[in-house]
Amino acid sequence: PTLSAHCSISSDSVGSEGVGDATFRVVLLGDPGVGKSSLVGIFRREQDRETQEQQQQVMYECTLTVDGEDTSLLLMDTSESEVRKLTGSSDSPMRIGHAYIIVYSVTDRSSFESASELRIQLRRTRQAENIPIILVGNKTDLVRSREVSVEEGRACAVVFDCKFIETSAVLQHNVRELFEGMVRQIRLRRDGADM
Ligand code: GDP
Ligand code: MG
Repeated sequence: PTLSAHCSISSDSVGSEGVGDATFRVVLLGDPGVGKSSLVGIFRREQDRETQEQQQQVMYECTLTVDGEDTSLLLMDTSESEVRKLTGSSDSPMRIGHAYIIVYSVTDRSSFESASELRIQLRRTRQAENIPIILVGNKTDLVRSREVSVEEGRACAVVFDCKFIETSAVLQHNVRELFEGMVRQIRLRRDGADM
């Protein structure tokens, strides 16, 4: 099955303008090189490739059909320099997301530690809110360079009270499951289910 039904692309500045009420902003965070752009790049069309290569931040608007219902997500790729630049401002990626995907590489322990720090920072910034967060261990295809076990990833997600999945953007393994899981998390919050 295909991951996305309709996708359009936007490189406009960050902010809520022009985004419908029914669109959920999902922000990807994580150290440089862990695979954020590769994970969202699955939504990227070939003809957009060249223009986007120069851009620091890219948003992908996608409608996913999950369990027979459509949900629109605005996926926001981020880069380290941009996150740093916007820190403290109201446009900060830490403030504008309705939901977060925190990515580390299973081949890079320091990126796993950064993921914990991002989770703490997010909790501090958005204290009272019950924001959906998924912790993602990417690059599972690089079996022989693995530095972070699946058990460690899972345990970290328990401590930080978020969902967890391991993916390979290169093999497109579990990527659909990741975004479907995000849609289900968002719906649970929307429907006021007891978490
Ligand atoms: P970003 O800085 O977090 O956006 O990371 P990128 O998406 O730019 O990926 C950084 C590098 O890791 C690129 O060379 C990707 O091809 C590679 N990469 C990303 N995801 C995977 C993966 O799942 N497996 C492998 N082997 N390489 C990956
Ligand atoms: Mg990137």
